[in-house]
Amino acid sequence: MIITLCAGATDQDIAQLRTDLLLAGYESYRCRLQGRVTLAVPGADRDRLDRVTKGRPVVTGIGDPGTLSPLGSRVAAAGDSTVPLAPGLSVGGKDFVVAAGPCAVESKTQLDTIADAVADSGAVVLRGGAYKPRTSPYAFQGLGPPGLELLAATSRRTGLPVVTEVLEPGDVERVAASTHVLQIGARNAQNFPLIREAGRSGLPVLLKRGFSCTVDEWLHAAEYVLREGNPHVLLCERGIRTFESRSRFTPDLMAVAVVKRLSHLPVIVDPSHATGSPDLVVPMTLAAAAAGADGVLIDVHHDPASALCDGGQALTPENFRSLMGRLGALLPALGRRLPLSQPVAPPLSARDRTRVPALSVS
Ligand code: PEP
Ligand code: MN
Repeated sequence: MIITLCAGATDQDIAQLRTDLLLAGYESYRCRLQGRVTLAVPGADRDRLDRVTKGRPVVTGIGDPGTLSPLGSRVAAAGDSTVPLAPGLSVGGKDFVVAAGPCAVESKTQLDTIADAVADSGAVVLRGGAYKPRTSPYAFQGLGPPGLELLAATSRRTGLPVVTEVLEPGDVERVAASTHVLQIGARNAQNFPLIREAGRSGLPVLLKRGFSCTVDEWLHAAEYVLREGNPHVLLCERGIRTFESRSRFTPDLMAVAVVKRLSHLPVIVDPSHATGSPDLVVPMTLAAAAAGADGVLIDVHHDPASALCDGGQALTPENFRSLMGRLGALLPALGRRLPLSQPVAPPLSARDRTRVPALSVS
């Protein structure tokens, strides 16, 4: 069950309610969604909750999300949640947010060249992996800490907020110091210690769907972040494994609409990893927008043939520019738009201020 509290509920009100719930036999988990505290009370009986909450003016509603991922459910929030990335830029509203960049950070020149190109075409977030989850241990594993430094420096120079992947719970703090959004990759989609730790960072968490995860399993993974009190989850559909072998994975665009029906969380699509082919990235990006996605994550490389990771699926800067033109023409028909101005990412050193304020009640 879900209990929503009024905006004016104090820490003391919340603590008292949670104690009383505990006395009634129920653990509760809280998250500040859209400025209000929401409590998930798993397994609670409606009549019993009514009795515990009776006469408390801070309680504005009790609802049954009918799912095991209550905080992410539509019952927990009044409308669509938005995830702030930089002043004036958030995911989940009218803006269709395009994040683009190399699959892996390879060098300063490579990152600068690609970041400048994608920003010039209208991308508002820079993607790039410093830690790469490679299927083969002999493949390029990413630059590690020097890659993080390059991302941070490029963000400072261009003003683009950064999204980069973290692979291990012990690296969350280090990666969080160099990025605006923590990415959890498809291969870690159910690595719950990692997801919990990323949630505790307070930074937005981009949660890729595992390629063999159902929508419910994906939503449960998001719940691990929300339960840490961190409301800033971006779900990312990146293709699932099916019997089809003509594309790298199968982009499940219906999942975008299904998640929108079930959850208040924003959803983006990664057509690059989903399709594995630049010529398929273009139609799948346009289709993702039409399906209701809130943005896309796209691999771009200025010299795909020499890329150290996933060059075969990267758009060239020229192809990316052409795609952005088509997207810009399509979005108004969908009631969306590309962000009106380039964001200026909060400097990483001052970014703590943009993190989720920790709830003082645990
Ligand atoms: C990536 O975005 O760099 C990546 C590795 O994607 P995925 O986890 O979806 O395979
Ligand atoms: Mn990749």
